[in-house]
Amino acid sequence: MRFRIALSFSLGALAVLALLALTGNGGLIPFVGAEDGEEADWSPTKPYPRQNVYYPGTEELKPDEMRVTACGTGMPMPRLKQAAASFLIELGNGDKFIFAMGTGCMERLYALGIPLDFIDKVFLTHLHMDHMGDLPAFYIYGPQNNRSVPLRVWGPGGGGTRPEWGTKAAMDHMLKTWAWMTGTLAGTIDTRSFVLEVTEYDWSKVNGVVYEENGVVIRSIPAIHMEQSASFILEWNGMKLAFSGDTLPNKWWIEHTKGVDFSIHECIFTPDLAMEKWGFSKAEALNAVTTVHANPSFFGKVMAMTRPKHAVAYHFQNDADTLPIVMDAVKALYDGPVDYAQDFMVWNITKDGVRTRMAVPNREMYPTPSLREKKVDKSNPYQTPDSVLAGWPEELNGITNEIYREFNEEHGTNFKFQLKK
Ligand SMILES: [Zn+2]
Ligand SMILES: [Zn+2]
Repeated sequence: MRFRIALSFSLGALAVLALLALTGNGGLIPFVGAEDGEEADWSPTKPYPRQNVYYPGTEELKPDEMRVTACGTGMPMPRLKQAAASFLIELGNGDKFIFAMGTGCMERLYALGIPLDFIDKVFLTHLHMDHMGDLPAFYIYGPQNNRSVPLRVWGPGGGGTRPEWGTKAAMDHMLKTWAWMTGTLAGTIDTRSFVLEVTEYDWSKVNGVVYEENGVVIRSIPAIHMEQSASFILEWNGMKLAFSGDTLPNKWWIEHTKGVDFSIHECIFTPDLAMEKWGFSKAEALNAVTTVHANPSFFGKVMAMTRPKHAVAYHFQNDADTLPIVMDAVKALYDGPVDYAQDFMVWNITKDGVRTRMAVPNREMYPTPSLREKKVDKSNPYQTPDSVLAGWPEELNGITNEIYREFNEEHGTNFKFQLKK
């Protein structure tokens, strides 16, 4: 049918008329292959029967379905096109998990328009900036963006690594870093989302249970990426999703991710690309892509050894000139399905297979509403010191009182302007 549409354009008006006569339905061309598999009509006024992209917030997640959205697929080298690592995992039971929160991912996550109370679970594979750099901002922006629930963070620790390098210590220091901001908001805004619940999991355990709730189990296996790095395997509804974080090929991954439904694994540049694009020296380039990260050949070999139903390669600058080089190296070793991730690539995963599309995010998103009634704790409010308030110009009292008068009249309220609480 699509061929007939193309043909009609090429043969001109006469052919169009002939085609309309053939279809006999007033010019509507039946289109087989709409999303539900049923025949639908193309119309000049109705919505198109098929969308090849995903508009966030417009599709119901089916009870047996998993949706993964790439909110960061890139590198520690910041770029507009690709944030650093982050994947949002949404399950048909209503659970949502954020795997990694690299720098730049937060705007992409927000662009999906999901109420923050639904995305309260963050899982960190390791504490590199390109895997957790946006966590402080995500945490601290809770009140202004209508989060009303605590933020829950799972991250690596233990396993013989120095306690001061662990996730608990990192989060403790994060809270201390933002002490002025959290302290000065007391009594002004609903700050219930400033509660941070941190769970440290032992990164050295093989298949240790990191999380188990509501029919979802997340296990970790060690990664080879300095120390205190892990990979996750999420199991739900008879499906398995594996997320490498950063790692060299390792026997734990190869043993425990065989045949998984969805396998997200790092795939960095080749040594030559590392030199050309990052300006690395020969030694730096070789070292980075063979002793710290998995180059495309490593990725291809690992996929050939594990053969997931669907694989995703991430953690490289995915451009018109780099992609063919990366793909060639992978394809030399692996012939299974691989998506080379870009930000906003989205996957719908069921037992029947995987559908890959690009999401069309809202570039002008506003905060989603609070899902609970706002509560401001007035028991110990912060007060700006008199010495600072002394700088207020009395000449502005007139227009400020006018703003209050108009507001109260419109809303039937009785607020009074006062800088001193
Ligand atoms: Zn790393
Ligand atoms: Zn990384």
